[in-house]
Order: sequence, then structure tokens, then C-alpha cells
Amino acid sequence: MTIEEYLKLPGEELHRSIDRMKKERGAVFLVHNYQRLEVQRLADHIGDSLALAQAAARTRSRLIVFCGVHFMAETAKLLNPDGKVIMPDTGAGCPMADMVTPESLRTAKRGYGDPMVAAYVNTSAAVKAESDICCTSSNAVRVVGSLPRDRGILFVPDRNLGSYAARMSGRDLILWPGHCFVHDRITVDDVQKAREEHPRARLIVHPECRPEVAAQADEVASTSGMVKAVQERNGVDEWIIGTETGLVEQLAAAHPGKGIHPLAESAVCRNMKLTTLAKAAWALEHEAGEIIVPQAVAGRARLALERMLALG
Ligand code: SF4
Repeated sequence: MTIEEYLKLPGEELHRSIDRMKKERGAVFLVHNYQRLEVQRLADHIGDSLALAQAAARTRSRLIVFCGVHFMAETAKLLNPDGKVIMPDTGAGCPMADMVTPESLRTAKRGYGDPMVAAYVNTSAAVKAESDICCTSSNAVRVVGSLPRDRGILFVPDRNLGSYAARMSGRDLILWPGHCFVHDRITVDDVQKAREEHPRARLIVHPECRPEVAAQADEVASTSGMVKAVQERNGVDEWIIGTETGLVEQLAAAHPGKGIHPLAESAVCRNMKLTTLAKAAWALEHEAGEIIVPQAVAGRARLALERMLALG
């Protein structure tokens, strides 16, 4: 079928077609927490970058359909080089990942006297290849804390996550001036407004938020940490969630008895929303949108990821 034909089908029919093709083709769906809710429902594994990287490394399926943004699908391919990784929309990039290039990183390394480089997974494979170790928002504090004390550490590209990892680990980090536009535009005014509207709610925010916003929160956590907190924190039945709205929708659907409020309604990542059911069905049928990582960078990029995964 063509994409135009898929676009005419209702959601339930698309779900049925995708389920059937998944079985026929031995495919597995890895889906990020920020995807549209109807796409999240396709997931064999749903989670944050770390959970999805671990799932990609473990899966025995020959075909991985990655519903997220480009660097995540590249990470899946790096960790599962024998598998075929496809994306329903290969144009779904991450503006923060684009804020550091291999050339700009090499120049900065020379300028700072050859520090170690800790790269957030939100980077291209080519940037990972120039880095010593990767991290995610779940493990950034642990990764930074594991690095030798006799070298400088350059943290790329998210200055807010880097600043959080520095505060929590007690390590001095050189911060790259990058940011996630979704989290960086959440303000202290948003916090005050949400606190006034939901005075009993506990506020949990993502470490990609600005330090002054994180300082106002009751907790700072990755999206997996947020899922766990809402699931397991007995006695807390109202939350304000400071991250992209895909996770807020997921939590509200999973916990209808709890009050789940977004910290900022405007926290929408348009790149994450590019993936739709129709595109997923079409990509699966045609096994289109394959992710290829150039050999010249794959080995070194994989090493940086494997050093992170080895920390557990
Ligand atoms: S939410 Fe931010 S970091 Fe995540 S993909 Fe979108 S722009 Fe990139």
C-alpha cells in the first residue's frame, strides 16, 4: 500500500495491520516516551534513551522499528549492528543533537587541552566517535562520577543536564552551550503558576530543564525515573510533570485515579510527533527508512556507548 492509502485508514485498522505485519516480519517496536500516545501503544519496549538502548542491545528480532528521533535509531543500530533498524520518519531529528558537530568538538578539545568528553546520547554517531563515554539523563551523574579526576571533562551538548550532573556528582565540568528547546523554555513562572493551580501536587522535572527550574522542583528525574516515581510513590496522588507532553499523556492514561498535570502545556517536541501510525505501517510494510551508520565512525561510537552500558 502507499502512504496515501495508509493515511485514509482509521487508527484501529492501522493498529491491526501493524500487529499482523510485525508478526509476519519478526519486527520489534522500540518507542520513546515522548511519542504520540497512539504510537506508544505499538511498543514492545517503551522508555527513555537508556532503556531503549538496552532493549536494542538485547533484542534478537531481525527488524527494529524505532519510533523516536534519529540519534536514538542510530544508537540502536550501533548496539545491534546485525539487525535492521528502520524509522517511520527519518526526518525526525533532534535540534539539540545538531548543536555539536565532530568538527566543533575537535576544535573545542584542542582549545581545552584535550579533556575527556562525556557525550549525552543526544548526539550523532560521528560526535559519539569523538567522545570517551556516553550518558543518558538516567545515568549522567554516575557516568561523570566514574571519570578519572586528573583530566578535565567536557560535557556535550546539553548545558542543563551537564550542570545538573556537575552539581550532583561534585565534579567540575566544562559545559557545551547546547540545550533542548522543549525543556529550556520552561520557566520559574511556569512553576509558580502550576504550584498555585495544584498546591497539593508534587513537582518532578527533567534534568534538561534550567537549573533555576530544577531548584524549585521536589524531584529531578529522567522520564523513566518519573514513570517509576508516579508508579511507586505511595500516598502521592497528584503530580506536576516537567517534561515533554507525551510522557504526561502516558502517565495520565496509566494512572486515571491520580492527578497528572503538565508543568507547561507548550512542552511539545515537534520532532517526536513526526512519527504517526500511518508512517509506521508504511515503513514496516516496505522496510523503508533504514538507518545506516558509516563504518568510519561506528566502531569508536559503539565503544563510547559500551563504556556507558558497562557501568550498569
Ligand atoms: S525533546 Fe528535546 S532533546 Fe528530546 S528529541 Fe526533542 S529537542 Fe531533542
